Amino acid sequence: MRASLIIAAGGSGSRFQKTLRPVAASKMAPGPLPPKLFYPLAGKSLLEHTLAVFQKNPRIQETVIAAPEGLGKLIRTMAKKNRWRSVKVTRGGKTRAESVWNALRKTDPKNTVVLVQDGARPFLPEETLNRLLEASKNHEAVLLGKKVVPTIKEISLEGSVKRTIDRKALIEAETPQVLNRELLERAYREVPQAFQATDESSLVETLGARVHVVTHEGWNPKITTYKDFELAEAYLNQNRVVRTGFGRDTHRLVPKRKFWLGGIVIPYEKGPLGHSDGDALIHAVIDALLGAMGKGDIGEWFSDQDPKFKNIASPKMLKKVMEESRAEGFQIQHADTVIILEKPKLGPYKKQMKQHLAKLLGLRENNVSIKAKTAEGLGPEGEGLAVTCEALVTIR
Ligand code: MG
Repeated sequence: MRASLIIAAGGSGSRFQKTLRPVAASKMAPGPLPPKLFYPLAGKSLLEHTLAVFQKNPRIQETVIAAPEGLGKLIRTMAKKNRWRSVKVTRGGKTRAESVWNALRKTDPKNTVVLVQDGARPFLPEETLNRLLEASKNHEAVLLGKKVVPTIKEISLEGSVKRTIDRKALIEAETPQVLNRELLERAYREVPQAFQATDESSLVETLGARVHVVTHEGWNPKITTYKDFELAEAYLNQNRVVRTGFGRDTHRLVPKRKFWLGGIVIPYEKGPLGHSDGDALIHAVIDALLGAMGKGDIGEWFSDQDPKFKNIASPKMLKKVMEESRAEGFQIQHADTVIILEKPKLGPYKKQMKQHLAKLLGLRENNVSIKAKTAEGLGPEGEGLAVTCEALVTIR
């Protein structure tokens, strides 16, 4: 059997955006928010999670994604990164049915079966997908359904109960829906108002086709609101191991050096001596991150004997270690830091340092903490001879 997969990703995700706005306003950097399917969910976008199970299945020959205009480039970059095989992008329509039609026209006619999947259903189990594909050998239309558990009432327009519906006769229609290509094409040609259909099953039902139902007991939610999204994230993270790393760094303070700290310059008469720019805060964070990953220390990564690293900007070093952490599948969760410095007072710069560090680490600002204290005149920090920073980084 050869099958084409159509991902309906044309919607704007307005319910999601609406519920996200208040959260975003308090937690995220200003600027445009990504569309729902491109929003990061436990380290990957929602769309990447949705596609994973299909990409692994040898019976699915190709994927056509119907997406809002202007997102093609982003999807192609994603395809490259994930090494997706044969993914095409087409323009989403005004309705779901229109998007599916646009995508259907781009599929290879040699593939006799077409699967339609909501872009925002990231948890389809492999075993369920295989059951659907098996069933499609004997049925021209197959629908994934979930038995209805709650008691369902039919109500009148005024809001009083008319009757209680026998839930044994009810299922909730989910996706994927698996259809014979010719049947689906015929439905688009012959059903009046085909473009208003809310799912493919109802389209072919109108033609009188028999739609076979495969039921399942699993969790295959469609991510609609930001609440759904948070639940999905908690579900994905439930088995991930949390690790922490600790870092500490001291730099001598000398005249005629710029005082780099947390990626910004603090106006002061002295600055940290060092082979690099001497940013003790970022160095402590790098060591903490390396510690959490179990990957040595900053000296092993960026030797102070290597002329290549002379005066290197510390954010560049952090970037490199971040790349390593991504490649290893780690996701940074949180960074807590302490700066021990007698002078100058850091109060006016803490907010800016925090913003900067959050950006470097790809974290929301409320997941980064910067605390500054003096050493009460004691020791090298207290005497103004040095700056010391400590950092604790949590990763998953
Ligand atoms: Mg250092």
